[in-house]
Amino acid sequence: MSAEADRCPWCAAALAPEPRTAFHVKRCRSCGVGVTRPRPSADDLASAYGPAYRPADGRFLGVTDALLRRTRGALARRIDALAPPGPVLDIGAGDGTLLAALRGRGRDAVGLEREATGPDIRDADVEELDGGWAAIVLWHSLEHLPEPSRVLAAAATRLAPGGVLVVAVPNLDSLQARAFGARWLALDVPRHIVHLPAPALTARLGELGLDVERVSHWRGGQVAFGWLHGMVAALPGHRDLYDALRVPAARLSSQPPNERRAAVALAVLCAPAALSGALLEVAVKRGGSVHVEARRGP
Ligand SMILES: [Zn+2]
Repeated sequence: MSAEADRCPWCAAALAPEPRTAFHVKRCRSCGVGVTRPRPSADDLASAYGPAYRPADGRFLGVTDALLRRTRGALARRIDALAPPGPVLDIGAGDGTLLAALRGRGRDAVGLEREATGPDIRDADVEELDGGWAAIVLWHSLEHLPEPSRVLAAAATRLAPGGVLVVAVPNLDSLQARAFGARWLALDVPRHIVHLPAPALTARLGELGLDVERVSHWRGGQVAFGWLHGMVAALPGHRDLYDALRVPAARLSSQPPNERRAAVALAVLCAPAALSGALLEVAVKRGGSVHVEARRGP
């Protein structure tokens, strides 16, 4: 690990050295964002993104994958309505579901991903691309990037005049992050490198010269599920609901079948309370994830 690399991924302040222990989140003393410590090595990340992370046949049991496709369809509709004419760039395109939905609306769309899986998904850095994008999307991907600050700045300068940047990230300032601490679903260490409180993101977008038009504490997704997962994890047994809902090839832990069934049963019991938690945090604008739309001037 080089000294050069051990800096805050958000503000570039030097971070105190950290012993090689289990991954955890520590606030940067300079900017206040959460940073995954110790900094994951390339090997750590390669194993964290192993075949189980995103199997070709989908990640979740039953309706969950279909639900994800529908929410990507709604996101594509919104981006199409917000952005001026022109192509859309999806940084962290995953399996290309959003790209397909955008193309279905007649938009040219290109994705970036650490492993290119299709003709319109490239393994490239945003800095290698030309500008002129009508919209650039970072949908739950900014927190995965080793250099989120650099990528966000590069994205901002590659928007066409009037173009819009759409960013969704887990919100470290959410009520669910506070309630569940180290058990909060969206910490997802070591895959998440940086853990942003919503105000840190909106402030940075302003510094990059963009006009923040909308901050939604609901549209970022996983708000109710974050509560549900956290409640099941906090109850005796500390079961992993997220893993229990994944298809066998996508499971990240080795929960026996009866434990998985118990996790799902507890989730059913917790559902009303989880929904209340979600509604409360959305109402006080401290949602579990935050969706921000910011526009470049004409
Ligand atoms: Zn910092």
